[in-house]
Order: sequence, then structure tokens, then C-alpha cells
Amino acid sequence: MLRDDYEMVIGLEVHCELSTKTKIFCSCSTEFGGEPNTHCCPVCMGMPGALPVLNEKVVEYAVKAGLATNCSIEENSKNDRKNYFYPDTPKAYQISQFDKPLCYDGYVNIETEDGEKTIRIERIHIEDDAGKLNHDEYGRGSFVDLNRAGVPLIEVVSKPDMRSAEEAEKYMRKLKSIFEYIEVSDCKMEQGSLRADVNVSVRKKGTEKFGTRTEMKNMSSFRSIVRAINYEAERQVDVIENGGVVEQETLRWDDISGKTFSMRDKENADDYRYFPEPDLVAIKLSKEYVENIRKTLPELPESRRKRYLADYELSEKAANFVTSSKYYSNIFEEAIKVCNNPKTVSNMLMSDIARILNEREEEPDEIKFSGKQLGELVSLIDKGTISSAIAKKVLEEMFVEDEVKDPEVIVKEKGWIQISDEGAIKEIVVKIVDANPQSVIDYKGGKDKALGFLVGQAMKETKGQANPQILNKLFIEEINKR
Ligand code: ADP
Ligand code: ZN
Ligand code: MG
Repeated sequence: MLRDDYEMVIGLEVHCELSTKTKIFCSCSTEFGGEPNTHCCPVCMGMPGALPVLNEKVVEYAVKAGLATNCSIEENSKNDRKNYFYPDTPKAYQISQFDKPLCYDGYVNIETEDGEKTIRIERIHIEDDAGKLNHDEYGRGSFVDLNRAGVPLIEVVSKPDMRSAEEAEKYMRKLKSIFEYIEVSDCKMEQGSLRADVNVSVRKKGTEKFGTRTEMKNMSSFRSIVRAINYEAERQVDVIENGGVVEQETLRWDDISGKTFSMRDKENADDYRYFPEPDLVAIKLSKEYVENIRKTLPELPESRRKRYLADYELSEKAANFVTSSKYYSNIFEEAIKVCNNPKTVSNMLMSDIARILNEREEEPDEIKFSGKQLGELVSLIDKGTISSAIAKKVLEEMFVEDEVKDPEVIVKEKGWIQISDEGAIKEIVVKIVDANPQSVIDYKGGKDKALGFLVGQAMKETKGQANPQILNKLFIEEINKR
């Protein structure tokens, strides 16, 4: 926890790989992985004299991302060279955008404990990704793989508007969710499709002026982002409180030790010598072009959230959760068409499904059952065919196989149909009451818990298949006879 008299200031530069089929300046495949250096050509390998051609889809996707995050779109944009040498960038420059980014002045809202908060977006620009260095693979130094070189990126630069690690996480999750909804990126953080440079500074509460910031590059998990911000803010406070000054520098976050380390490039203030890319023409966008893209935008999470609150009376928490991922939200909408029970569907997503995903270390996009199947499962509960305890077991089964069987089939195959036959239940009730005379005395003496115990015994006996309402009723009848 940061000391009470200090406050953190955080700004993120989020890089997101666009899911176009081909690279930004050539027609090589953008597919992830592949044998090293097989998705390459003279353009993306940076051969002298090779000429880039801008992929129009990249502009379309970037404009889409800009519109979905409330940005203005620059009608007179261009590409610029950002010069630096690094072995994963054979051109010795990146083609990015300097003073005319495609999108500028946007924002997204995040939901905090004190209500909605707006995080401003300074700009979104397009650029090419670098290749990858594989270090020490064969114990013989580093190997360059240029499959990723030239994969299109958008960089989303926020204003320094975040004041806690939680806000930074929420902001990044919001971007991820929006980009998934509009289908411009698969946003797979584990594959590096979404990553952030995290800028952190601290200041005494009440001061206007920002403190000096440090930057942690290429962070690609929410957990490390949160840990890194908290660690770094505390480190800066310690420096200041011990009479030192925070240096503006790039740090490396080490997940294992949970610490940041200086990358020792303090002296070199970045000087990229940007200049307009001479091999590409300017990007001129008409109003009509932009408006046509606006028309293709699907309903965004913000609007779905408001609709779920109003139309289905979900709680704030449930509406936030369900719309946090396009995959949850799509499943939810398909499911309620079948069972017309938004409350139960949202509860299942929020509790059991989220828990199972967590246990399996999977993401919502890896769910294999359809929304229709989830709806059918909820219908089975509503019709009294299965209890909610059994529904949990069916749900577990729905995660196991790639080809998910319909819940009704699973219930039949497993013999999990709820026993609602009073005669059959009565037999079990009598047996359990006979075996537990003390519980009967307890219940009559006012201990309501004793009934719960007896019902629990009956559930055990029937492997959760007895109808709980009927059980309760018959137990009370039987006890009163004694
Ligand atoms: P650069 O491109 O050199 O890293 P920018 O001015 O574009 O620098 O800022 C990069 C990011 O740093 C932005 O997201 C911005 O919000 C954030 N930032 C700027 N100043 C601060 C600060 N004092 N504390 C925290 N973040 C900051
Ligand atoms: Zn290529
Ligand atoms: Mg930066």
C-alpha cells in the first residue's frame, strides 16, 4: 500500500497487433508462430531498395479502433520513420507515425468504486512490429526470427489519468474488451498481441505538478502490470523520502523477484530523428470513408451494459462482468433466447463458469459450449429436471470435451435426472429419520440446522438428485409424526 500522503500517476502506451491476414507493408502472412523466418520477404526483412506498400485494412482497423474509443480521425495522416538500431529491426528504423497519428483525443470509461471514470486517450497510431530475438536457444548466442517483423500494430497512448494499479488494469481490460468486440485484434496477451509500456510517477497529494516518471516496457500480463506499478510507486516514494530524486529511465520488471531494475540507458534521451517516410504516400481519408467505417461498428460493451441493467435488471456487478468480454456477452445473449432467465445465466457466468475457467487457466474465448447449450442447461433447472447442484456437475462436463454434448444428453447418460417422485423420496426420508433420532430431537427443540443436516444426508444418498423442495416438505411431515 502506498503511503497516504502520496498518489500514483500512471499512463499506458498499449500496443495491439491487428488481426489483418497480411502484414502492414507487404503481403506476408501475419500468422502467429511458424518456423522461424518463413513469413518473410525483402520488404519485412528490411532489404535495401525494397518498397513498402501500406495495407489498406490496417488503416480501416485503426480507424475502427479510434471510433470505438471516441477518437477524432485525422483526415490528413502520414507515416514517419523512427530511427533506431536493434537486431530485431533490420531496417534500422520503424515505420510509425509522429505528428499526424490516425486517431487522436479519445477516451474510454472505466467503472470504479466511486462510479464511472474517464481515461483520456491522447492518440492511436499505426506502426510495424519488430522481429523476435530467441536468446540462447542452442547455447550459441541469440537468433533472429523475423516472422513478426511487419505485423501491424496500433499504439494507444493514454493521458496520465490513472491513479492506481487497479485503474490501470481496468483501463487495459476495457481496451482489450473493446478491440475484441470490434474484431480488430485477437488480443491474446500470452502471444504478445496485446502489451503495454507502463509509465509511473508519484507526487505528494495536493501537488499539481507531476513527478518524474519511469517506464516499464512490454508488459504482457495483468498480474505483472499490477504488481510492477505497486512496486515501482513504492520504490519512488522511498527514493524521495530518503532525499533522493527519481530519474527518468526505462526499467525492466522481473516477475520472479518482484522488482524493477534499471536498464542503464539513462544518459541516452531518446532521439529518434523522425522524418516523413519517403517511400510511402500520405494517407488522406474522406469523411465518407470514416462514416462508412463507423456504420460497421457493432454494439459496444458500454451500450450492452446499459441495456442489461435496464432490460434484464442485472446488478451492476453482473452487467459489468458479463460485458467485460465479448465472449461472455455473446453466450449470455444466446442463452437467454433459449431459457429467458437472465439472472441465472449471468450468475452461472459470474460464479461457476468463471471459477472453472480460472481452475483450467483458460480465457473466455476458450469456452467450447454454445450460448444455446447454456440456455438449455438453465431450462433444465427451471423445469425441475435437474437441481442446481446437478447443473454444476453438468457444467463441469461441458468443459471436458471439444465436441460439447447437449446438457440433456449429459444428464441422461449420467443418470442425473432429478428424483421428484414423492414415493421414492419418502422411502429415503423415513430411512434417514430412523437413523438419526438425535436430529429429530434437536429440530423439535428449535435447532433448524438439524433439518439442513437431514436434507444433506438425503442428498448424499441420492447423489444430489432428490428434489430439495420435496425433501424439505417430507422431512418436516415425517419429523412431526414422531
Ligand atoms: P514517450 O513517447 O517518450 O514515452 P509520451 O509523452 O508520449 O512519452 O508519454 C508516454 C506515456 O507516459 C503516456 O501514456 C503518458 O500518459 C505517460 N506519462 C507522461 N508523463 C507522465 C508522468 N509524469 N507520470 C506518469 N505517466 C506519465
Ligand atoms: Zn514480407
Ligand atoms: Mg514511451
